[in-house]
Amino acid sequence: MYKIVLAGDAAVGKSSFIMRLCKNKFVNNLNSTLGVDFQTKVIEVDGRVIALQLWDTAGQERFRSIAKSYFRRADGVLLLYDCSYERSFINLRDWVEAVEPYTFKEGTASKIPLMIAGNKTDLRREFEAEGRRCVRTDEGHRLAREYDALFIETSAKEGDYILEAVTELARLLRTTEDLEVRNVGM
Ligand code: GDP
Repeated sequence: MYKIVLAGDAAVGKSSFIMRLCKNKFVNNLNSTLGVDFQTKVIEVDGRVIALQLWDTAGQERFRSIAKSYFRRADGVLLLYDCSYERSFINLRDWVEAVEPYTFKEGTASKIPLMIAGNKTDLRREFEAEGRRCVRTDEGHRLAREYDALFIETSAKEGDYILEAVTELARLLRTTEDLEVRNVGM
């Protein structure tokens, strides 16, 4: 069982992402909390079955001070922004920096995998058609490269790339773990 924590500005779609992944549902104007700390999802990665716990911030991001315990023992971090809303992308740098101290595996110098996801691609399509400024794919890619993070664009509304996002992240979890096992065995 791996613990994946989600973070990012309020309203970027963290709860919706988890609901789409775990319940295959989308609710407009979802009440910001699901009422529980996490949901679980079992996925298959390269023929191996992996159980993930997806942790939702439960609205705490409004205060920009998510409890330390939220990130403790996280195996992976998924940072979301809303690609139809530039402010949430600009704020993502603050999020990466806020999360940074927690990305070291406890008592080691090795890092846990980080993924940046630009959500609401469906809304961006609409907005761009109206000539409104949105966050482009290459801008997201560039930011992710800077922080050595994985990158993906998703739509919780349409279900696009939600499963792919966690599968990619989980693949890296396994790889990191396998490498460690191999190193210990050397
Ligand atoms: P959170 O505060 O980050 O957990 O964000 P929510 O999941 O509560 O979503 C905030 C708002 O954005 C809600 O009204 C959602 O219905 C909407 N939303 C979330 N994901 C998407 C998406 O992929 N596309 C669109 N169009 N709306 C979304």
